Amino acid sequence: MKTKAKVFEKRRCIRCGAKAVMPRTSAGRTTSYRTMPCMPIPDDLLIPSCGRCQSEYLDEEKSAALGPQLQEVYLACLRTRIRIAIDILSRHVSQRKLERMMGMSQGYFSRLRAGSGNPSPELVSHLGLLCQDPPTRLVELERFWALPDEEWAPLPTEQTRYRNRKDTSGSAR
Ligand SMILES: [Zn+2]
Repeated sequence: MKTKAKVFEKRRCIRCGAKAVMPRTSAGRTTSYRTMPCMPIPDDLLIPSCGRCQSEYLDEEKSAALGPQLQEVYLACLRTRIRIAIDILSRHVSQRKLERMMGMSQGYFSRLRAGSGNPSPELVSHLGLLCQDPPTRLVELERFWALPDEEWAPLPTEQTRYRNRKDTSGSAR
């Protein structure tokens, strides 16, 4: 019988030429993942990287292997973001009213606030935007739902002054 110890052969770095690329842990790394251009990577996650120039080799194969772990990190980011958003918005509107305005079932925000369940990135995006200026955004949202289907769109702020005179002046009524 043989037990095959997995020995990592260091690969050569195509950036600096050092033969120092092997799976390494590190602090402060980020990666682009779904909606997040700079999602933090857990310090203890092994990613092939160069010991000399720190270049990372997160190729497709490796990314796929890390997929479930990165997904977990992503879901944790969403839960944190929604908790903060609900706290901010709760100072301006009741959770019940907010749930109604956003078509959510009663108590959904309390459950999310408590960290149970995973919010969708769409919902996190939406609440995140409302948080940028809660008093204004909440009134806008209320108004949006109150207006007729065809008439809710805001007027362009910068209207073009150009008018085709020929078209309007010469036309018969
Ligand atoms: Zn290198």
